[in-house]
Amino acid sequence: MDSILATPAGEPFPYKQYFMEKKEAGRVFVGIFAHEMVPVELVRAAGATIVPLVFVGPEEYSATGGSFMSHSTCTFARNIVGAFVHEDMRFYKQVEYLVRSNYCNGDFCGMEYLGREFRLPTIDLSVPVKTLGHSVAYFTSQVEAFAQRLGSLLGARIEEDETKRQVKVHNAARAAIRRLLDVGIYGSELLQRYQEAAVLEPAELVERLDAIYFKNEAFLSEGDKRDTKHPGIMLSGDPIFVNDFFASWLEEFGASVVYYDTWIGARLGETDVDEADPDVYNALARAYLLGHGLERAVPAAMDSRLRKAMTLVKERNITGIINHTLKFCDFQAIGRGEFKDQLGKLVPVLDVERDYSQSGFGGMKTRVEAFIELVSGGGR
Ligand code: SF4
Repeated sequence: MDSILATPAGEPFPYKQYFMEKKEAGRVFVGIFAHEMVPVELVRAAGATIVPLVFVGPEEYSATGGSFMSHSTCTFARNIVGAFVHEDMRFYKQVEYLVRSNYCNGDFCGMEYLGREFRLPTIDLSVPVKTLGHSVAYFTSQVEAFAQRLGSLLGARIEEDETKRQVKVHNAARAAIRRLLDVGIYGSELLQRYQEAAVLEPAELVERLDAIYFKNEAFLSEGDKRDTKHPGIMLSGDPIFVNDFFASWLEEFGASVVYYDTWIGARLGETDVDEADPDVYNALARAYLLGHGLERAVPAAMDSRLRKAMTLVKERNITGIINHTLKFCDFQAIGRGEFKDQLGKLVPVLDVERDYSQSGFGGMKTRVEAFIELVSGGGR
């Protein structure tokens, strides 16, 4: 595992080998789809290996998923279902349990289908859609129920002490993720780190980031690598999942993203779980609902999203935003117009809706290049 974790920063992370080693070590694989709302500390306290369903395949995977699910299910969920059917992502085939939640239509329908057709037991987590006075208490009870279901299905006892230890190591990983913004990496390299952060266990992530950046003498001796040449572009909306070619497209078109305001992005490091709270379930519920989940909670989701983006524009010297929506992701699509109108008063916003097809290359190139020209005048 040590050699895997020291894979050079510029090379693709060997995910297949990573999961193969976990399997050989006898680990149980739990597939998680529900983006940022599952308290992963509990799954790891149960001794399981998390297989985040963040690895997408080419366009035909979405078409395959569409043979089983409605075409109005988001392109991402269809792609994940297609990836299970195509079987070339071997570690998906090793998933033994799935976490299913009501996070969104894609999550619920995708997990429903995979659970039924692949006969995978599902572990339910109910996520509140509001953040009213009683929502944290409700979510605390759901997090506890989730831990019980998880423990009984996996035949594991989830000890409170181990959960608290997991909270600590996950917070340490979150701190390391925050530090990524200070090492001067951007574009695909920064995205690759966030994608790895969504997959690796927290101690592994810290070890890897130490090896390639924080304690790497050769890297440190290069001095401040902060990018001052490119316009300060922020990517918001849906994340760029592993294997998606969109990040390399953007770089080819001259757009280098310096800030990923997405859940596979800077948000992975934003919310710590309160280690001082004696009730660890309450601490987890508060962090996940009020930190990670705020922008999906009605009725103030849009306000919260706008406020956050406006703050980032000012604090991070952002000169343009690419707002990225995956087709049929209601979650992002609902506020697209308002987001563009409001943020557009501050900086240019390029609104992009896409699936995993390569066919839009020419049109996208023209739009991104025009956007770069527009934001390049802003300087940094
Ligand atoms: S892309 Fe959107 S609809 Fe699809 S799973 Fe993610 S949040 Fe849900």
